[in-house]
Amino acid sequence: MSPQILKEIDGEVTQLLADLIRLNTTNPPGNETEEANFIAQYLGKEGFRTEIVESAPGRGSLITRLKGTGEKPSLLLLSHLDVVAADPKEWTVDPFAGVIKDGYVYGRGAYDMKSMIAMEIMVVKLLKKNGVKLKGDVVLAATADEEQGGEVGAGYLLRNHKEKVWCPFVINEGGGLAFPSKKGYVFPIQTAEKGILWLRIKAKGTPGHGSIPNTADNALMRMNRVIDKLGNYKAKTIYVGTLRKFLAEMGKQDIDLQETFSLLLANPGRSEEILDDLAKKDRALAEDIRPRTKMTIAPTMIRGGVKENIIPSDCEAVFDCRILPGQTIDETVDLIKGLLKDVGLDKLSFEFIQAHGGSESTVDTGLYMTITEVLREFEPGCGVTPTLSTGGTDSRFFRETGSVCYGFQPMIPDEPNDQLEKRMHGIDERITIENLVFGTNALYETVRRFMS
Ligand SMILES: [Zn+2]
Repeated sequence: MSPQILKEIDGEVTQLLADLIRLNTTNPPGNETEEANFIAQYLGKEGFRTEIVESAPGRGSLITRLKGTGEKPSLLLLSHLDVVAADPKEWTVDPFAGVIKDGYVYGRGAYDMKSMIAMEIMVVKLLKKNGVKLKGDVVLAATADEEQGGEVGAGYLLRNHKEKVWCPFVINEGGGLAFPSKKGYVFPIQTAEKGILWLRIKAKGTPGHGSIPNTADNALMRMNRVIDKLGNYKAKTIYVGTLRKFLAEMGKQDIDLQETFSLLLANPGRSEEILDDLAKKDRALAEDIRPRTKMTIAPTMIRGGVKENIIPSDCEAVFDCRILPGQTIDETVDLIKGLLKDVGLDKLSFEFIQAHGGSESTVDTGLYMTITEVLREFEPGCGVTPTLSTGGTDSRFFRETGSVCYGFQPMIPDEPNDQLEKRMHGIDERITIENLVFGTNALYETVRRFMS
């Protein structure tokens, strides 16, 4: 962590994060307005004019803007105020107390993503305090509802108040946590994410007595076939641009894996077999890459039957289908229906629970270059790679409206990455004060350099 550009911010950013954690924004219900008010007061003391936009009572998002000269495109520092639930009984500390101990800040949101709210607040505050001459506007938006899909947060803002938040460039969560490689740390920058199709399928049959099964048409048996077809479906391998760049970059970082990554890159048609081989040596890595190479379908819920001796006429199941950037919902539904032709489409009905496509941003921008430059100065010899995430963030709303979005929450791992990721929506979520300082520094330097 070499260039200490900003010193003595550790106390301030730590306290700010602890205060943010203490306001419980578990979604549902969210109650983000309270936190938005807190930030408005905090920034108000620093001379910022802020605005809170509510999509519904209590569901507030906070926005503030530092004006630039207009010579450069504007940049949005995006974050979400809400968090997922935490059961205090499972934690070693109160998840909503903002406990600071042993060099860590503990609490729900410590990582996802109140730490980044704190970093982004520090960034705008320091830009102003240091009198940085901005060539473009820097906008900060801390929004509601990301953990429940973002429709009443970032989605609402873009649909109803686009002029307040839209920027050609966006920095958000979804990437930035370095992982170790043979050659040192690699920082993944999230440039793409998969889309979601949550599908409820209902199977119809005719009821009957369990003792004379042949006289009935068992909906469970029909659903069994649906699950078999969809759950075991191997979709076609497609490498999106981000994955190609990721595989190439990862090959450079690890001599031992270089051959595997080159092989994967050159042979999309054999990807399953190559990944099966890799899994024998490094299962975690293989299963990390596999869902990034194709659309996936996972059966996740099932319900059917009412009584031990009644053959059910109804059964429903939910499927979590994740599609690649570039694949559409319509073509995916057509594909699924095609797979189920023999099961009898007339006895099946389909309902969307959630459906939206994936998204991808180019790496050929000045912002991506600046991020790379800054990281290499902070962590000499590190690798930087674009990455495609299997889950979604609010970046999708902005990418859909033409913004270039990067998931960049800069952090150095202080324990194995799978441990860290488990804490995110899990137990004893925490962040080191060292990372808060590192993240603030790296973000500040990126924004300062790109915007001035
Ligand atoms: Zn998050």
